[in-house]
Amino acid sequence: MSTTAHTSADAFERRLSDSPRSESERAELIASPSFGVVFTDHMARVTWTADEGWTDRRVEPYGPLQLDPAAAVLHYGQEIFEGLKAYRHADGSIWTFRPEKNAARFAASARRLALPELSVEDFLGSIEALVAVDGAWVPGADETSLYLRPFMFAAESFLGVRPSRRVDYLLIASPVGPYFSGGVRPVSIFVAEDYHRAGPGGTGAAKCGGNYAASLLPQQEAYAHGCEQVCFLDAATSSLLEELGGMNVMVVHRDGSIATPALSGTILEGVTRDSILTLLREGGHEVVERDLPLAEVLEGLRTGDVTEIFACGTAAVVTPIGRLVGDGFDLEVNGGATGTVTTAIRHQLTAVQYGRAEDTHGWMRRLA
Ligand SMILES: *Cc1c(COP(=O)(O)O)cnc(C)c1O
Repeated sequence: MSTTAHTSADAFERRLSDSPRSESERAELIASPSFGVVFTDHMARVTWTADEGWTDRRVEPYGPLQLDPAAAVLHYGQEIFEGLKAYRHADGSIWTFRPEKNAARFAASARRLALPELSVEDFLGSIEALVAVDGAWVPGADETSLYLRPFMFAAESFLGVRPSRRVDYLLIASPVGPYFSGGVRPVSIFVAEDYHRAGPGGTGAAKCGGNYAASLLPQQEAYAHGCEQVCFLDAATSSLLEELGGMNVMVVHRDGSIATPALSGTILEGVTRDSILTLLREGGHEVVERDLPLAEVLEGLRTGDVTEIFACGTAAVVTPIGRLVGDGFDLEVNGGATGTVTTAIRHQLTAVQYGRAEDTHGWMRRLA
């Protein structure tokens, strides 16, 4: 069971803040937080050098970093990150969801970006150490959580182009409310034909800042077309659905079967994606991971064979897609409303995460 695994939280030295927010300040800040605006009093940190490896594990006061203007990350973008959440259950205990998957993905992203791998023990240890100090920042209201953001970057001051010989790993945490204030609401999606986020052999399967930088201009194009998000197509043929800038995508058919793009190396292997595929299969849905041609989805929307489309990821969990817009098409999905499969899978997954349903897969890991 993952809940009994050992980590090296104790290896993190505590250098506590002498000016943490008061209980009432904290209560106010976690009452109705926007996404990623407020941060807790501390951060966890580990330093890596080519000569000494990972050293100086600590939890220290949250605050600005001192960075040399020649730090490699500022010039060549050698950076990766993760995103997961800590959930407060009704009995007050604090849990996280499949963090070993994030740890493994963080290591895989590190390999692709020529960064040193952080061990699973240090990844999980940093989370436990930070929550041990800042656990009071995990909100308890419905659909709230403490968003955890581990990241790693090239900190060496050097303008030559090679992997950095000094790297910083940090974990910061931000109390977050429901991703959509006013409940889950279908979003409109612009299918980008002129821009791609990833190509064969590129960094699409790594969770790195550079992928997000590449998605911002097409995102602006989506806004200009009255859409909230972008869906990218494969770079090789511009004909296959891949994913949104930060969420995987799934298509539901009239017969209850679900199709999602296969892990081709150019899309991000979402933990939410994997968990939902498991739950759908167990619920009796046929689930197929394969090439998903845009033309097939558009045709399915016109004939009624495609009944629902949704996006999924840690931050927003499950987001219904109500409209698909692109070059020569503008189609509603399910009349622009949230579908029944989308609603059901969202409830099923969040029930496990918030401890309202039994964790039959050993996905939850207790933090406090
Ligand atoms: C993080 C991310 C996802 C979602 O992954 P989860 O593990 O489910 O949060 C999907 N696509 C991209 C590009 C991402 O960066």
